[in-house]
Amino acid sequence: MLDTITIRTQRTTASRLQQLDPDRLEFGKVFSDHMFVVDYQDGEWQEPQIVPYGDMAVSPANSALHYGQAIFEGMKAYKNPQGDIALFRPYDNLQRLNLSAERMCMPAIPEELFMQGLSQLIRLDANWVPDSPGSALYIRPFMFATDGFIGVRPSDNYRFMIFTCPVGLYYNKPLRVRFEEKFVRSAEGGAGYAKAAGNYGAAMWPTKLAQQEGYHQLLWTDSSAHQFIEESGTMNVMFVIDGRVVTPALSTSILDGITRKSVLQVAHDLGMPVEERKVSATEIMAAQANGTLQEAFGVGTAATIAPIAVIGFQGQDYTLPAPSMTSFSQKASAILSAIRTGEAPDTHNWMVQV
Ligand SMILES: *Cc1c(COP(=O)(O)O)cnc(C)c1O
Repeated sequence: MLDTITIRTQRTTASRLQQLDPDRLEFGKVFSDHMFVVDYQDGEWQEPQIVPYGDMAVSPANSALHYGQAIFEGMKAYKNPQGDIALFRPYDNLQRLNLSAERMCMPAIPEELFMQGLSQLIRLDANWVPDSPGSALYIRPFMFATDGFIGVRPSDNYRFMIFTCPVGLYYNKPLRVRFEEKFVRSAEGGAGYAKAAGNYGAAMWPTKLAQQEGYHQLLWTDSSAHQFIEESGTMNVMFVIDGRVVTPALSTSILDGITRKSVLQVAHDLGMPVEERKVSATEIMAAQANGTLQEAFGVGTAATIAPIAVIGFQGQDYTLPAPSMTSFSQKASAILSAIRTGEAPDTHNWMVQV
């Protein structure tokens, strides 16, 4: 990758790397030494910087805090056995970040700023990228409004930042989920397709209620009749019914997951029929009853694939078959993992070296 931008870099004088226990990485709690920061002012992106990770001052009146003018991304970098570091589909994250930015009246991030910021940050903190099986560097790019102004209108000024967290093997504890038939995560015409902060805050209470009932997360349904399935928690959702991979078609209320489209590509490569269409709760429950529902799983960057073990529907719990080595979800998970660590050829050019 070319160094087209010089990023002023202030290195930490107190690296925390020695305190890192690579065998005990809890998701999202440990941050690498540095972060990337760039401000948008006077209609332009200003000089980017890499600085030690740490707290910062913001106006208490900024409209990210008051009106939710804030967006984010989630992505990962992987280290191969030779020690090379590569990002998984970063251009797709940039494209989605800019789609979210447009939805929230925020400026677009230029490609070179995003890619150079990412790669220079990760190269500087290369020793923070874990290399044990299943581990990765989780990357959190995000942008928020910075005007000190309490009026309800889009901010003039913004800050775009990236920080990273080493993460270990994600233990895919089989999920207990239930259909949500009262609350909604998003509605058609809303901002559900954007990774906008407010979507997540609003989903916490319904999720907490389900967790109090013993479920891990919700199967969100459409906002008008709670009939059609949308997503599972903060993941997209897929089913294998009678040998076909079935997933809700994208809409303005569903987030266009990069794991989702990668898993669908893997299904296609394996010669499995893929159906992207409306999927009703009653169809899934009928398939469960007649034995054709073979698999259900969530797909997203954090877990890659999280098998669903139990589905709650109208007060009853239904158990799904346990995934085996021949399950599509297990095969797809192994294929994606091999591509990410360089053990399998990257036939779709998904990996970008930093
Ligand atoms: C981020 C996210 C996903 C998964 O997207 P990936 O690109 O696969 O990580 C799915 N649904 C929601 C609501 C999300 O926020």
